Amino acid sequence: MLDRQALLRLSQFRRSDRPVVTLYLKIDRTSSEPKHVIRLKNLLAEAEAQRSKFNAVWEEVQRDLERVSAYVRDAYAQGAQHLAVFACGDELFEAFSLPYELPTALHLESIPVLRPLFRQLQRYERYAAVLVTQRLGRVFFVTPDAVEEVVAFEDEIPPRHDQGGWAQARLQRHHDEAVYQHLKRVADVVFELFQARGFSGLVMFGTEEITSALRELLHPYVQDRVIATTPMDITATTKDVGQTTLSLARERRRERQRELLELFESEVHRQGGRAVGGFKNVIAAVQEGRVQVLLVNETCDVTGGRCQQCGALTTATSGECDYCGGQVEPLRDGLEPVVAGAFQQGADVLFLSGRSEQARLEPFEGIGAILRYPLAS
Ligand SMILES: [Zn+2]
Repeated sequence: MLDRQALLRLSQFRRSDRPVVTLYLKIDRTSSEPKHVIRLKNLLAEAEAQRSKFNAVWEEVQRDLERVSAYVRDAYAQGAQHLAVFACGDELFEAFSLPYELPTALHLESIPVLRPLFRQLQRYERYAAVLVTQRLGRVFFVTPDAVEEVVAFEDEIPPRHDQGGWAQARLQRHHDEAVYQHLKRVADVVFELFQARGFSGLVMFGTEEITSALRELLHPYVQDRVIATTPMDITATTKDVGQTTLSLARERRRERQRELLELFESEVHRQGGRAVGGFKNVIAAVQEGRVQVLLVNETCDVTGGRCQQCGALTTATSGECDYCGGQVEPLRDGLEPVVAGAFQQGADVLFLSGRSEQARLEPFEGIGAILRYPLAS
């Protein structure tokens, strides 16, 4: 499965002596002559046209391309939809079937081309939702494509009787204990789901009283991921739960983006502040391993280069490296290694898609970073 772990592994792969093959392809099943076969053929022809660039290693590149093509044939037979495939000799062959479409492309680069996936990782977050009452528990797993009711159960709760005196107190205790056990069971199921499949946010549906009692019983890892609490009818459909969860998650994400933009703006203008803006400053921060949060406009498009000798990134696309005097080669996409670098140092990478959010980064070429610690003055 393509998750943060897999992406991290791929982003660390680099070869200087031969290119890595990256393929993104949508599998077509609408006709007996699937369109992706033609598309792949065209992409392979375009790759062949780059042969002179890779003359010395072309045979090896060709073997990688053949393996990738064979994988596409198998994936078609097995019913896959959207593919991402990475190949480089014996050292790298990873293929993923994705639930979302990415622009079709075949790349021959010194690193796996991951920018389309970095964006999806943010869009393709997974969530859990729990709908709870004193006796009922329903737990859901929610992605932008699907919502699944993982489990639903009802526990027997002794009623509260209004009998007064000693009997009343005892029944009350029984009742409370049973509710506690029920909520504990719900909390355990949610934690099991977290361990088995992982999720970045949890939405709790229920009354204020019940959800706050449940919250206290959640495992701390899960507690940290609660993004919203709101009432909902216990008979709500799976679809309702899914849609409400996603819309609350979207709201929370934009809210967080605005909070981070505010922090960015207040720090970037301050002498010795904890933020830098603009491509050049962000590159320096990534190279020094200082980035905590990378903010990038989805529309951001910058050119840049990499030193062939020491690997340093630069806004220049040619000339000599500032660090070692080596030769700078242009990059197809200046942003990608910066995003990958920030990702590798454990930074949160946020692509901004809202117009008002993007406007705030415009004065900085659409890119800024919040740092782990301030710049030395
Ligand atoms: Zn250099």
